[in-house]
Amino acid sequence: MPSFPHVLRGLVLLLPLALAPGRAAPAAAPNIILINCDDLGYGDLACYGAPDIRTPHLDRMAREGTRFTDFSVTSPLCTPSRAALMTGKYPGRVGLATGVLRPDAKGGLAAAEITLAEALKPAGYATGCIGKWHLGFVPGLRPRDQGFDSYYGVLHNLDRFETVVFEKEGGMPVLRGDTVETRPADPAVMTALYTTEALAFIEAHRARPFFLYLGHAMPHLPFDATPRFKGRSARGLYGDVIEELDDSTGQILEKLRALGLAERTLVLFTSDNGPERNTPGRAAPLRGTKHTVYEGGLRVPLLAWWPGRVPAGRECGDFVTALDVLPTLARLADAPIPAGLDGHDVSPVLLGTPGARSPRTTLYSLYGPNDRRREAFRENHWKLHLGSAPELYDLAADPAESTNLATRHPEVVARLTARARELVATLAPARSE
Ligand code: MG
Repeated sequence: MPSFPHVLRGLVLLLPLALAPGRAAPAAAPNIILINCDDLGYGDLACYGAPDIRTPHLDRMAREGTRFTDFSVTSPLCTPSRAALMTGKYPGRVGLATGVLRPDAKGGLAAAEITLAEALKPAGYATGCIGKWHLGFVPGLRPRDQGFDSYYGVLHNLDRFETVVFEKEGGMPVLRGDTVETRPADPAVMTALYTTEALAFIEAHRARPFFLYLGHAMPHLPFDATPRFKGRSARGLYGDVIEELDDSTGQILEKLRALGLAERTLVLFTSDNGPERNTPGRAAPLRGTKHTVYEGGLRVPLLAWWPGRVPAGRECGDFVTALDVLPTLARLADAPIPAGLDGHDVSPVLLGTPGARSPRTTLYSLYGPNDRRREAFRENHWKLHLGSAPELYDLAADPAESTNLATRHPEVVARLTARARELVATLAPARSE
């Protein structure tokens, strides 16, 4: 308990602030909902130019919020990308630089790393994780061991590489906490299950600040939708799946409005990497897909919605990455920003503070172990694909990476190569698989 004179002194100090005319009250820490789709491409939403998929709820979210056009993940693959989003550090710095964790993996994101949930906890947040985690499956490495109060969902992928692990046990489990609630997991109902769960989480935590991480299973292979969405989209089942994700997000925003939480809740909608090869997923107008370090593998949609705080109807072309999410959310929550991050607080950019620009200038991206290794290093508008035949692109003029300028600008190739090597030297060795 503070002493009485101490309280009085505090009141006296606060009085001028309270009485100052025209001064806005400090904003309370917002609820935060981070919706992370799986393998959703840059060109898969109508508000990002898809002509054949209808996304009216996400389009409205964009009109009521801010649509980022230069938001990148660090890696074109699930586990490394999520490691960076969840920690604000390069995946190599947390030992998850390359491969995907399979359900029988014994390793994962080290318990000592500070996750989004752990970063927000000191500010009093209730924390929930729904859906794909992909950062560790054994006790000690699951979401509830990494700062989340609750967990519901399938921890990893739903594809054949994964389901085979559970064949002897009756199929892939859907977990509530550590308990198997249903099995086998059915790809067709995952979006509906996760949406129901998300709405219940919001309802249950309406009275206090909450952080909800919703890691959709879709549209990762094997993608599927509930019957009422099937056959609706001009892009076939893939488009149906995206339209169901759109409907899910619409339900979440409507729940926030109905509970009177809209102006106290920041909602982010994004993806962990670009679209899978040989699927109808698209990254247009960007080049490349998941499993490549071209922009199509790395640059993904990001919509931000917080009525009254995040500017409405704005398109933001600032260079922002998944590394920047943790420090930004910590700042908005008035929680301490952990040391040693690769991310920057971009909250002034998010909130549209006049004159604010993203402090980010560089991004290192890595895909694949050894023989399939691909590396890129970006410095502002310059993007270098490293290697014996380097490719250099000017993303400002050529976001589709179509004209290789490496021979025309050898000095830029040399500078970016050196900077990439300097950064890589600070990272832990890539985990081999
Ligand atoms: Mg993915």
